[in-house]
Amino acid sequence: MSEMTFDKQFFGRSLASMAELTEKNRDYWTKLDSDIGDGDHGINMSIGFRAVSAKLEENLENAEDITSLLKKSGMLLLSKVGGASGPLYGSFFIKMGKDITGQTEITFSDFVGMIKNGVEAIQFRGKAELGDKTMLDALLPGLEYLEAHQTDSNPVVVLEEAVAIMRQGAESTIPLIAKKGRAMRLGERAIGHKDPGSESSWMLINVFLEEMKTV
Ligand code: ADP
Ligand code: MG
Repeated sequence: MSEMTFDKQFFGRSLASMAELTEKNRDYWTKLDSDIGDGDHGINMSIGFRAVSAKLEENLENAEDITSLLKKSGMLLLSKVGGASGPLYGSFFIKMGKDITGQTEITFSDFVGMIKNGVEAIQFRGKAELGDKTMLDALLPGLEYLEAHQTDSNPVVVLEEAVAIMRQGAESTIPLIAKKGRAMRLGERAIGHKDPGSESSWMLINVFLEEMKTV
């Protein structure tokens, strides 16, 4: 079997599906945020991904490589969204492609490196650690699995397991007190509620999985 590769169109389709996912979950993510934040996470994500979606065709045409497409899309999330999640997810996409400049096709190992760069960018910007009740509680354990299994024979199976771990990571935020973000102010009252960003983040990574199943 020849090695699985992913091109600019793969990332274009993923971004389009993420925009669809965001519309479907707008109210759900907002509900989670109304429990422990200011009730705008779904709205913020929707503002951001509507902007990404509106420019997607143009960006796909003008981007010379995968890096450029992701950067243009991340810049829109960063600039159009008022909440914390815009700059955080924006940084994720802006930095994702930093090691694959000029490439129009990437391998699964490259993809794992991209997720790593993206997650590190979130951590650099937001300064949160594992257990702070943020999106990193989903992303970091999944990333660890991806790095350990990036050369396994079946990328889809690896990503499937990583997404399952991320999903559990989101569940793991329920009993926690928040040490970053708005939910921090609630102290113990944040206990019993899932962090909205941890839920949106595993669901967004799951979009890459769904797209990989079609490659
Ligand atoms: P805001 O908190 O400004 O209203 P959102 O509601 O859109 O923005 O996003 C909230 C989510 O952002 C939280 O659920 C959390 O996962 C994530 N978040 C907030 N601060 C940080 C941080 N410092 N590091 C990582 N993630 C964070
Ligand atoms: Mg909010």
